[in-house]
Amino acid sequence: MMLRSLFLAVTLCSAAPAIAQNNWKEVAIESEILAPGIAMISGAGGNVAVHYGTDGTLMVDSQFAPLAARLMAATERLGADPAKWLVNTHWHADHTGGNESFAMNGAVIIAQEKVRQRLGAGQMHRGKQVLPRPDEALPRITYSDAMTLRFNDDDLHIIHAPNAHTDGDSILHWERANVLHMGDIFFHKTTLPFIDLESGGSARGLLAAVEKALERADEGSRIIPGHGPLATRADLTAYRDMLAKVIGAVEEAKAAGRSLAEIQADNPAAPYEVADGFISADAFVAAIYNSSADERAPADAAEEAEQVEEEAAENGASAA
Ligand SMILES: [Zn+2]
Repeated sequence: MMLRSLFLAVTLCSAAPAIAQNNWKEVAIESEILAPGIAMISGAGGNVAVHYGTDGTLMVDSQFAPLAARLMAATERLGADPAKWLVNTHWHADHTGGNESFAMNGAVIIAQEKVRQRLGAGQMHRGKQVLPRPDEALPRITYSDAMTLRFNDDDLHIIHAPNAHTDGDSILHWERANVLHMGDIFFHKTTLPFIDLESGGSARGLLAAVEKALERADEGSRIIPGHGPLATRADLTAYRDMLAKVIGAVEEAKAAGRSLAEIQADNPAAPYEVADGFISADAFVAAIYNSSADERAPADAAEEAEQVEEEAAENGASAA
């Protein structure tokens, strides 16, 4: 068990070379209260949400394993009890790395059923083999299309967004508090979108997921992105418009017979590039080009993985 934990920690570090080279203690853990009993915690890896009150504490995502104790301390500083529930927005290690620690501390993990499958089976991710996670890291409660938790005087809707960033993405919506958590469907000001074709993501699915969230949001909504600062409905609308424009341009060019290299040279994503983002314009365009509205072709997915890996090697980027 001990050895396994150590090995896991090493594996997760290798998924985040930029952080592993530094000290995890140097990661700043910051909390922001969004509504009574709901806070966003940022550190390294995906943004965390904490919902706390008389029914107990629910967390959304668990960042990297070495940060679990500090996330627990941040939760305690909010005046919240240890998490009773932990929802994973998707399987990626920068959102599920702390699962074992939180489970051993009493949390029951909830996720869309594909998250359990992918965590339990091990995956290829951006050119690297990710090992199967131990049983305690896996969701105990899974759902297919949607579920609602009536908790701390709010209705928390957990909604599946199929084939978006991955095939197991959840959008979370606290109806009464008017807060949403988008997982990695939404990268806000940190990089161009990451469509993980290897994990069943797709461009049209990503756009549909954003549309689905916009239907639930209003001007007063506070929207937690997977990565980046807190956002508004206007921010998410701009992201939707960007997605629609670039996806439309790539699909149109592809239908007209232009090759991927030609479309990348045209660079329809140019106006939206983010400095130091780990997804380059070429990788984003390739992911759209290789996406299919229905089932992605495995050959395309492999090609895309290779390309993303090359990009990552060139940029020396970290995982997300
Ligand atoms: Zn992700």
